[in-house]
This record gives sequence, structure tokens and C-alpha cells, in this order.
Amino acid sequence: MAELFALLALQLTLIIALRYLGVSALFAWIAGRARPEIYRPSDPARRARLASQVRREIGWSLLSAGLYAAPAALAFAAFLRGGTQLYTEVAAMPLWWLPASVLLYLLAHDAWFYWSHRAMHHWPWLFRTMHAVHHESRPPTAFASMSFHPFEALSAAWLYPAMVFLVPIHVGALLVVLLIATFMAVTNHMGVELFPRRWVNGWFGRHIITASHHDLHHSRYNANYGLYFRFWDRLFGTDAGLSTRVQPPFRKPA
Ligand SMILES: [Zn+2]
Ligand SMILES: [Zn+2]
Repeated sequence: MAELFALLALQLTLIIALRYLGVSALFAWIAGRARPEIYRPSDPARRARLASQVRREIGWSLLSAGLYAAPAALAFAAFLRGGTQLYTEVAAMPLWWLPASVLLYLLAHDAWFYWSHRAMHHWPWLFRTMHAVHHESRPPTAFASMSFHPFEALSAAWLYPAMVFLVPIHVGALLVVLLIATFMAVTNHMGVELFPRRWVNGWFGRHIITASHHDLHHSRYNANYGLYFRFWDRLFGTDAGLSTRVQPPFRKPA
């Protein structure tokens, strides 16, 4: 069992690290075309500062990859022995459960993130210990998506692995959850709004968190704590609206 766990943990670390590097590099490239002033500043001092920030973001993120992999490896080892609620036959549950389970996993993650995130901003000692690392990026880049202190990475790493023991989910649906989680974590830090302005200002943006929302958290600190959905922030009066600093990537040059 220990050998299987070590092998799975190593494989998952590699997969998570490569996924992080690939997706972050792709969106950094897209964002860099739109906002060269963030990603390719002409001033040498700013360029050096950015390079050291990105190196720091990548370093913390690769450490997080190992910490995310450990509980995931435990759950995966249990799955291989039939000890989880993960299933592979679509017919094992009603079809409507596929989207419902995706939504449930995202809602649970969002709730945990909102409240733990608020706690880290509420108590200065907790902020300094766990969360200051994530806010060292000013403004963040697409590489900041997993730039967390190990304590913060661990505070979230257990959630999905624990849920697969309790809430049935198809393996494919779990991959969709991880895909959405990765996409949103990276794009919400890229400093560029990926979605059309009329989406962001419409129904979609009123409910779903995009870069315009999370960017304001990184500049204001005391608002916009959510991860995927805006309803916790709205419900508890911590929603400060959207940042106008982020722009769509494919806007016409002025
Ligand atoms: Zn952030
Ligand atoms: Zn924060």
C-alpha cells in the first residue's frame, strides 16, 4: 500500500505540475499579447521584478502540486481498491446526476474557499502565516494560480479527495470539475478578461467569478473573496463589483 501510494503521489505531482505549467504558460502568452505592460514591461527594473515574481509564483505552485497530489493519491489508491464513491459506468447513477455532481463539487469547493479565505483575511496572524504568499503577486500573473503557502495549499488539498469518499461522482465528471477548477484559477489571475464585456456585465458575470472580479480582490484585499460564484460575496456584503483594470485580450488596438 505504501509503495502504491508513493508511486501514485509521484505520478500525480508530475501531472498536476505539468498541467499547471502548460495551462499557465498558454494563458500568460494570451494575456501578454493583450497587456504587454504587465507581461513584457519595457523598463529593465520592472522586467527584473516581474521575472523574480514569476519565479516565485512557479516555485510556490510546484510545491503546491506535491501537496495537492498527496491526498489525491490516497483517494486514488482507495478507488483502485473499490473504496470510494467514484464510478466508471455512466449507467450506475441517473444521467441528471452527472451535471448535478459537477455543480455540487464546485459549490462545496466554493463554500469552503469563501469562508477559509475570509478567515485568512479576518485574522492578521492567519493572513501572515498562510495567505500573504498568494498576495505577494501585485498584480498577479497567470502563474499565480497555485502560488500558495504550503499551509494554504493543504487547507484546500483535502476537499475533493475527501468528497470522493462521500459523494458519488463519475470519473469523467470529476475530470470536468478539475478542468473547470484549473481554467478558472489560471484565467482569474491573468490580468486580462477572457470573456466578452457584455457577458461579464450580464447574467453570466453577475453570478460567475471571472478575472474582473478576482482582480479586484488582489488590489483591495477586503472584498470579492469567492472562488467560482458570487453569491456568498453578495449574501454577506463583501462583493465590491468588478475591476475595470482588466481588459479583453482581443480588443482592437487604441
Ligand atoms: Zn488570487
Ligand atoms: Zn486573498
